Amino acid sequence: MIHDTIAAISTAVGEGGIAIIRISGPDAISGTARIFQSKTSLNEAQSHTVNYGHIIDPTTGEQVEEVLVTVMRGPRSFTAEDVVEINAHGGVVAVKQVLDVVLQQEGFRTAEPGEFTKRAFLNGRIDLMQAEAVIDLIRSKSDRAFSVARKQAEGALSKQIKALRQTVIELLAHIEVNIDYPEHDVEDLTSAYIREQCGSAIEAIGKLLKTANEGKILREGILTAIVGRPNVGKSSLMNVLTQENKAIVTDIPGTTRDVIEQFVTLNGIPLRLLDTAGIRDTEDVVEKIGVERSRSALAEAELILLVLNYNEPLQPGDRELLEQLAGRSVIVILNKTDLPHQLEIEVVEQFVPADSIVRMSMLEERGLDRLEQAISDMFFEGQLESNDLTYVSNVRHISLLKRANQSLVDAIEASNMGIPIDVIQIDVRSAWESLGEILGDEVGDSLIDQIFSQFCLGK
Ligand code: GDP
Ligand code: ZN
Repeated sequence: MIHDTIAAISTAVGEGGIAIIRISGPDAISGTARIFQSKTSLNEAQSHTVNYGHIIDPTTGEQVEEVLVTVMRGPRSFTAEDVVEINAHGGVVAVKQVLDVVLQQEGFRTAEPGEFTKRAFLNGRIDLMQAEAVIDLIRSKSDRAFSVARKQAEGALSKQIKALRQTVIELLAHIEVNIDYPEHDVEDLTSAYIREQCGSAIEAIGKLLKTANEGKILREGILTAIVGRPNVGKSSLMNVLTQENKAIVTDIPGTTRDVIEQFVTLNGIPLRLLDTAGIRDTEDVVEKIGVERSRSALAEAELILLVLNYNEPLQPGDRELLEQLAGRSVIVILNKTDLPHQLEIEVVEQFVPADSIVRMSMLEERGLDRLEQAISDMFFEGQLESNDLTYVSNVRHISLLKRANQSLVDAIEASNMGIPIDVIQIDVRSAWESLGEILGDEVGDSLIDQIFSQFCLGK
């Protein structure tokens, strides 16, 4: 049983400027009522209502801040406890003052990072997977990653894992019956059944694991290097993508001195863009540092955008880059299509498939849709536009799914080899346990603490 009441400033996701104080615990309502001046006492407020009034400092009797207070009585709240949210409009300083007053109330203390979510989990309000999704929500860098995490927080993935677990428990029950009543002699039926149930669970796990990589991409962005000879339009591309003018654009070859990283989303596809200085031999020392960094950035990149000048015949430097990049995920951008066409596309097509060649004009900002399509085809097998956003993106979930998968494979093999059913049962049970761990059924205290300590304060 939880006795203390916790409070923290909780900045709502996606609303950077607005700070809310969230309070949860047995004294949340009565404690806040003592410092809240309004027409009627907060103690009488109905659940899920917003109440207007002022926070007063009980030691001085002074009004601290004009506020809106939301009351949510447990268990119909995020933590399943009584929850109060104080919405102060007066900016960070005012909110901090309000929090100070709140924390003076008896039984109140500052929440640890992730503690609200931890309470929701401990009170059975959400499962562990949903709780972890809240971490992802806070960290997600792109809109799409945000919707994936939100969908997960709502329990979409939990539902799939539960269904999977149901398949396994049915099998387990079947095996147990067989062990307990061997005289029924249903051995053959059972081994066919084992293969069938394990097989369908393995298939479902396989589908989930396939989404894992896409989930990671959505969360972290595709590490993307922009390369090309000087003056082909790399910085201009960067600028078109970022719509800011952070990278230097100039007519003088080699003026992008350093690697600049920027996070952008191209119609929902998150890219971590590295603007790499023109890769070429140079005597300029400052330039050389940039070139060194570009080289290592290039080695790490998951996607390479090679920019060529459509308005010039292919240069030896272009050909060198095309050769160097063989076997990598490359999209060739033919830039400056607003100018007359001089480049020999046939030669480029000897190095990269035609659908990885995109015609663009940075000057006229044309071809972005084609670039987006090419990236989408390369990384998402064209499935990105589907609304099925239940991705497995958490490393812990991935390794547990793999472990469950291995146990099921072992069970099938054992069954094929005619190994006694009580041995097979061990594998099936361990698959069941691995899946349970994903949902938080079998986790020890230390793991729970570890997971929740990753949160921001106020969540
Ligand atoms: P970088 O050295 O590869 O980074 O090239 P920049 O982005 O600095 O561009 C070099 C020059 O080409 C600048 O003068 C740009 O304005 C010009 N440029 C870039 N893209 C285009 C384009 O699509 N069309 C035309 N006509 N000029 C462009
Ligand atoms: Zn540049």
